[in-house]
Amino acid sequence: MWQTGVASEAADSNTRRESNENPGNMARSKSSKRWLAEHFDDPYVKLAQQKGLRSRSAFKLQELQEKYQLIRPGMTVVDLGAAPGGWCQVAQPLAGPGGKVFGLDILEMEPLPGVVFILGDFTEEDALLQLEQALGEKRVDLVMSDMAPNMSGMAAVDQARAMYLAELALEFVKSHLKPGGDFVVKLFQGSDFDAFVRQVRTLFRKVQVIKPKASRPRSKEVYLLARGHQVK
Ligand code: SAM
Repeated sequence: MWQTGVASEAADSNTRRESNENPGNMARSKSSKRWLAEHFDDPYVKLAQQKGLRSRSAFKLQELQEKYQLIRPGMTVVDLGAAPGGWCQVAQPLAGPGGKVFGLDILEMEPLPGVVFILGDFTEEDALLQLEQALGEKRVDLVMSDMAPNMSGMAAVDQARAMYLAELALEFVKSHLKPGGDFVVKLFQGSDFDAFVRQVRTLFRKVQVIKPKASRPRSKEVYLLARGHQVK
C-alpha cells in the first residue's frame, strides 16, 4: 500500500505543476502559501489519502470512467505522465488480469502490481522506443495523457510546453491506437488549443472537452476525450 505521507508529497508536486502563478519571489511565496492552504483543505487531497490513492488526479479519471466507461476488462492502456500512479491505480483493476497498463513518466514511480512502468522523457526518442518495446505486438485500446510540464509561471511558455506534450501524445495515438480506440489528453486552454481540437476531430468519431469536478476551477486545465479512432 502506498504510504499516506508519501502520497500527499507526490500529489503536491504534481498539482503544484498545474498552478499558473506569477513568477517573482514575493509573488511566489504568497502564492505558495495560498497553494499549501488550498491543498490541505482540498477534499480530494483528503479523500485520496483516505483511499490510499497516490494523487488527487485519480478522481478525474474515476469521474471519466463513471460517465463514459473508458476502461474495460482486457484492454491495453497506455498512461503517459503516469507518476505518482493515481491513474494507473484506477485503470489497472478495470483492465483486469486479461488487460495491461503501461505507464511512462520522466519521474520515478513506485511499482504497482500489473503495471509496466517505463522511466523516460517522452520528448526523447529513447522513451518512445522503450514503450514500443514493452508493448511488443500489442495495439493500444486507450491512450491517456495527463502529462504536464513544470510550470514556469509564464503563461505563453507553459502553454507551448503543454501543447508540445499533447502533440507528442497525438503522434503516438496515430501510430499505436487501434481503430475504434479512445484518447484522453490533458490540455491547457490558450493559443493553439482550438487548432489541436480541430486536428483531433479529424481522427475520431466523437470529441468532447471536459472539466472534471476534481480539476481545480482556476486552473486552465481541461481534458479532451476523443472516442472511436478512425484510421484513414
Ligand atoms: N496522472 C498522474 C497521477 O494520477 O498520478 C499525475 C500526472 S502529473 C499531473 C503530470 C506528470 O507528467 C508528472 O508526473 C510529470 O513528471 C509528467 N511529465 C511531464 N513531462 C514529461 C515528459 N516529457 N515525459 C514524461 N512525463 C512527463
